[in-house]
Parts: sequence; structure tokens; C-alpha cells
Amino acid sequence: MSQWVDYRALKQSIGIAQVLSSYHVPLQPVGGNQLRGRCPLPTHGSERSRESFSVHTAKNVWACHSASCCDARQGRVGGNILDLVALLERCSIREAALRLQEGWSTGSRVCEQLASRGSSSSPAPLQPLSFSLPLSWHPYLAQRGIDSSTAAQFEVGYYAGPGFLRGRIAFPIHDSEGRLVAYAGRSIDGSEPRYLFPPGFRKSQVVFNLHRACREVAARPAGCVIVEGFFDCLRVHQAGYSKVIALMGVNLSELQENLLLARFREVVLMLDADEAGRRATQQLAARLRESVSLHIAEVPSGRQPDQLSSEEIELILLQSEGAFRT
Ligand SMILES: [Zn+2]
Repeated sequence: MSQWVDYRALKQSIGIAQVLSSYHVPLQPVGGNQLRGRCPLPTHGSERSRESFSVHTAKNVWACHSASCCDARQGRVGGNILDLVALLERCSIREAALRLQEGWSTGSRVCEQLASRGSSSSPAPLQPLSFSLPLSWHPYLAQRGIDSSTAAQFEVGYYAGPGFLRGRIAFPIHDSEGRLVAYAGRSIDGSEPRYLFPPGFRKSQVVFNLHRACREVAARPAGCVIVEGFFDCLRVHQAGYSKVIALMGVNLSELQENLLLARFREVVLMLDADEAGRRATQQLAARLRESVSLHIAEVPSGRQPDQLSSEEIELILLQSEGAFRT
């Protein structure tokens, strides 16, 4: 079956800078919507032309002025994001479009984000993905203390396919209705950034694992554990606390706050016990204290929930008096 691809929508909605950053191509801004740097294309053989590659972010186009690089591309100086990905991935334009579509899911989301940039209006809601990635078990998950049943429950796994998540552990992210809206990818070989999110995705619009944490909540009052990261969330869940959600960082947006307050009367803050986590804990506690019954989990200094054993997690949560083990 041939999949339908909207080339025009892709070219319009996906920013070339985002595409290049997903390939970890370092470029420097040189003013006037332009970026410049070393050419990342496989057609580029010249060692001398270090700054031959340029990008115009407003026009969403690229060019490399190295003569040998142009020759290897049938004399073409540059092109759009589809040409670019086709060259980088050594694939056809159609294949490149499919990869972009997969990696970026909904171009409209990026469009809407770009359209709303600079305005104070609330961001467009996340659109459900029309596909899911084939993921498999990887020993890295065991290294992080995740067992196979937890990985299966969260549908987390290694992605070997094409696109920006290639070679990463992919975490499916769902909206509060349980619809898949994005994947985040964790590198497993130490490469930076450790976590990749699709361009256009805003962590502030969604709470990781909220749909599962709410599943058994028949009626309020009910409580949840709030952690920072994906692995924290999986480990706390694995320790027997299924009502756990992750902020994917230390920030709580107004939208996230509303999602939580609409569902929970009691929360336990279990952020990392580093400086950023401690500071965020104090801020969130001050913010949430009036709306919910609030507890703070005493994570040992310098540690984070995903580094704790199930027994340690249980002990800490029992001591924090958030009594909603499930
Ligand atoms: Zn080049």
C-alpha cells in the first residue's frame, strides 16, 4: 500500500533548522535569517571549504557553494528540506518525505506553533499521531533498572528504523485522553542531546503517563506522585505506584497544572534531589499547596528516583504520607 505524502505541507511546516539540528549539524547564525557552517552532505568531499554550507531559515532552503559538492549533486547549489534529507539519508525524495512525516508526525502542529509564535495565545492542542513506531526490547532498559513487563506496559523500546529517533530508546507520549501524540528518544551511546523531542512538540502541553495514572481513579479524591523524567516514572511505577506522572523536566505549565488539579486532590513531589530539583520542589509546593494536599518525598541528596531501588522508593513514599499505593 502506498502512503500518501503531502510534500508541500512538509516543506512549509518543518523548519530547516530543526531538521538540521535533529541530525546534529552545528551551524552558526550569521544574521538575516541565515545560518552557516560545515557542509554535512555525503556529496561534500572538499576539506578546505569549511563554511560552505548555508541555510536561510525564513525561506527554508539550504545551499552548499563548494564546486565539487555541487558537481556531485548534478550541479545543483542547494534545495529544500526534502532534497536535504534525501541527500543526508541517501534515499529518494519520496522516502525522505515519509521519514520527515514520520519523524515530525504532524506538520500542521509545527505550522500552528510557528503561527502562534510571538503571540500570547495558548498553543494549539497536540494532534494524535497517525502511526506508531515498531519498538523492541533493548539491554539498555535493563541497565536502567527497567524490567520487561514495565517496558511493555509503557510501550517503551528501542527504535531501529529511520528518522530522528533512530538508535534511541523511544518513549510514547500520550495526551490526557490516552491518544499517542509524540515520541521522545533517549540516546543510549552517550550522544547529546540525551533526549530528543520532535520539533514543534512542547512538553508544557502534556503530562507524561497521566492517562494511565488516572485510569483507576474512579472519583476524587485521589493522589499522584510527580517526578521529573521518563525513567523516574517507570521506576516509581515498577515499585508499585501506578499513579505516577512525569513533567519531563522541572517546569509545571499552567496547562499541566490544570490537568493535574482536575484529577488529583493529593500529590507527592518526588523530584530529583539536585539543586534544580530542590528549587523546583519549593516553587511547586508553594504553588500547589493551596489547591491540593501536598507532600514532599525526601529523596536522598544528590540522587533521583530512577537511581533508587523499589524498596527505597517505597520507603520514601511511605514516609511522605502520600497514602495511595496501588
Ligand atoms: Zn557541500
